[in-house]
Amino acid sequence: MDSSSQLIKSYGIFRKIVYVVLIALVIGTQALKYNGSGWGFIPLLVFMVLFGITDSILLFKKHFDNRGLFKMVKLVEICAYHILMAFMPEAYYVQAALGIYLIHITLEYILYDSSLDHYTIVVHEITALLPAIINVVIALSNRTEGKAFVYILIVFMEVVLVYMMVRWVEMVSGEYERLNTDLNVKIDRIRTMNQRLEEYQNKVVHVNEQINYQKIELNRMMDDLEQLNVESASQIELMKYMASTFDVNKCIHMILDSVMDVKQPKLVAVYVEENIYRNKRATFFCKTNYSAIEGRLKKDIADVYNHFSKLYKTAVTFHEDDVKAFNFVGEANINSLAMFPIMDRDRCYGTMIVASDDANFFDKGYYYYEASLISFNVAVNSTKLYMQMEDMARKDGLTGIYNRLYFNELFAQTLEMMKEEKKSICVALFDIDKFKSVNDTYGHLAGDEVIKMVARVADRFAEENGGFASRYGGEEFLVILPEYEIKTAQPIIEAMHEEIKKTVVHFDGQDINVNVSIGLTEYPTICNDTALLVSRADKAMYYGKKNGRGRLIIDTDEIYKMGLN
Ligand code: GH3
Ligand code: MG
Ligand code: MG
Repeated sequence: MDSSSQLIKSYGIFRKIVYVVLIALVIGTQALKYNGSGWGFIPLLVFMVLFGITDSILLFKKHFDNRGLFKMVKLVEICAYHILMAFMPEAYYVQAALGIYLIHITLEYILYDSSLDHYTIVVHEITALLPAIINVVIALSNRTEGKAFVYILIVFMEVVLVYMMVRWVEMVSGEYERLNTDLNVKIDRIRTMNQRLEEYQNKVVHVNEQINYQKIELNRMMDDLEQLNVESASQIELMKYMASTFDVNKCIHMILDSVMDVKQPKLVAVYVEENIYRNKRATFFCKTNYSAIEGRLKKDIADVYNHFSKLYKTAVTFHEDDVKAFNFVGEANINSLAMFPIMDRDRCYGTMIVASDDANFFDKGYYYYEASLISFNVAVNSTKLYMQMEDMARKDGLTGIYNRLYFNELFAQTLEMMKEEKKSICVALFDIDKFKSVNDTYGHLAGDEVIKMVARVADRFAEENGGFASRYGGEEFLVILPEYEIKTAQPIIEAMHEEIKKTVVHFDGQDINVNVSIGLTEYPTICNDTALLVSRADKAMYYGKKNGRGRLIIDTDEIYKMGLN
C-alpha cells in the first residue's frame, strides 16, 4: 500500500465519523421536526445508508486498490448528494453537515486518483464541484440566497481544502519519492553487494570444491605413497634376508609371507623347476585362505607351469571367466589371477601365482611381485655360486666326491650325532691293488680314469644307502654308512666290491680291470673308540693287502694289534 492509499484509509475513518454525525443530525432533525423538514430527509437517509454499505462492501472485498471503481462510486455519491441537497428542505444544520460530508467525499474522490498531477486534479475537482456550482446557480435563480450562500461556502471550502490536501499529498509523496529513491539507491547498492557476495560465495564454493578434490587426490596419493613405503620396506627386508641365506626354500617362504602381508591376496604360490638349486624335485610352496585350492594347485602346477612358460615370458593377468578356466580355481571366489615368471636372464625356471577375489587387484603395484622375484633370482644365483664354491672346497677335483678335508669335518659331525643318538656306524677303507702297475702299464691318464670309476661306484653305493664316500688319499677311499651295524653294512660293501671288480675301464682302446682291498669296522661293537675307526679300518685293509689282496677284511682287535706291530 503506498502513502496515498494510507492517507485515504485514515481519511476514510474521519469521513465515517462525519457520516455518523450526519445520520444522527438527519434523524435528530427528523425527530424534532426542525424547521418543518417533514419527510424530505428520507431520500437523503436512504442514499447515505446505501453508499455507506457500498463503501464497506468494496473495502471488505479488498477492492480498495481498484481505484477506478471507487472513483465511480464516489462521483455518483457526490452527484446524488448535490441533487438531494438542491431539493432538500431548508434545514441549514443538516445542509452544513452534508456540505462538510460532501467535501470529504470530494477529497476522497480526488485522493483516489493515483496520478495526482495538477491537471488531473483540477479536472476532477471541477467534475466534483460541478453539482455544487449547479446548485449555487439553481439557488440564486430561485432567489433562495440562504441556500446559495451555503453552496458557495461549500464550494469555497472544498476548493481550499482540496488545494491544501493536494499540497500536503504532494509534499508527503515528494518526501516519499525522495525516501523511495534513497531506498532504491540503497537497495541497488545492497543488490550489487549481494551480487558480489554471491559471486564471491560461488568462487569460495568453487575453490572449496577444488580444495576438496585436491584433498581427496592428495589423500589417495598419500595412501599410494604409504603403500609404496610399506612395499619398499618389505622389499628391503626381503633383499636383506635373501642376501643373508643360501637356503632357497626359506627364501620362497619369506616371499610368500611378504606378499601375504603387504598385498593380502587370497593365494600366493611359488613353483621352481627341479635341479635349479640342487633341488632334485620341483619345488612348490603355497599360502592361501582356500585350502581346497592348494591341493588342486599342487596337482596341476607342473602342467600349468609348462603351459604358461611356453607361452609367456612376462607376467600375465587373468580376469573373471579366464580365471574360472583354471581347473584348480574351482568354485573359489577368485576374480583375478596373475602368473609371474621367475627368470634368469632369458630362461624361465619357475613361476609365482597370485590370486585375489578383487577383479581389479592387479591394476597397480605389479612391480612389487616382479622386484621380489628379481631378488629371488639373485638369491638363487648366489646360492648356486656358493654351492659351487662349497663344492670346490669340499670335493675332490678329479673324482667329484668329498675330499679328505671335508670328510674329516663331515665324519666328525656324523660321529657326534651317532654317539648322541646311540647309533652304530660302519667305516670301510679301501685301496686299489697294484695301482702303480696300472699307471705303469696304461699311463697316468688311464690311472686317473680308474680312480674316477672306483670313486663313482663308491659314491653311488654310499649315497644309495644313506652314507657318503670320500677320496682319502691318492687311490684310497672311505665309505661311511651311518646307522649301520657290521652285519647290515657287510653285504653293501661286498656288493660295492663286486661292482668295482666287474667294472671295466675303457681307455685308449684298452680294457682295464682293477680290484681293491677293503677294511671294514663298526662303532661301537667292533671299535668302541670313534677316534680309532679310520685307523682300525686301515689296519684291516693292510691285513688284506698282506694276505692276498682283493679281499674284504672285517676289523678285529687281533688284526688291529697285529697292524700296530
Ligand atoms: P698296493 O696293492 O700295495 O696298494 O700297491 P700299489 O701299487 O697300489 O702301491 P701304492 O699304494 O704304494 O701306490 C699308489 C700309487 O698311486 C702311487 C701313485 O703314483 C699313484 N697315484 C696316486 N694318486 C694318483 C692319481 O691321482 N693318479 C694316478 N694316475 N696315479 C696316482
Ligand atoms: Mg695306496
Ligand atoms: Mg694301492
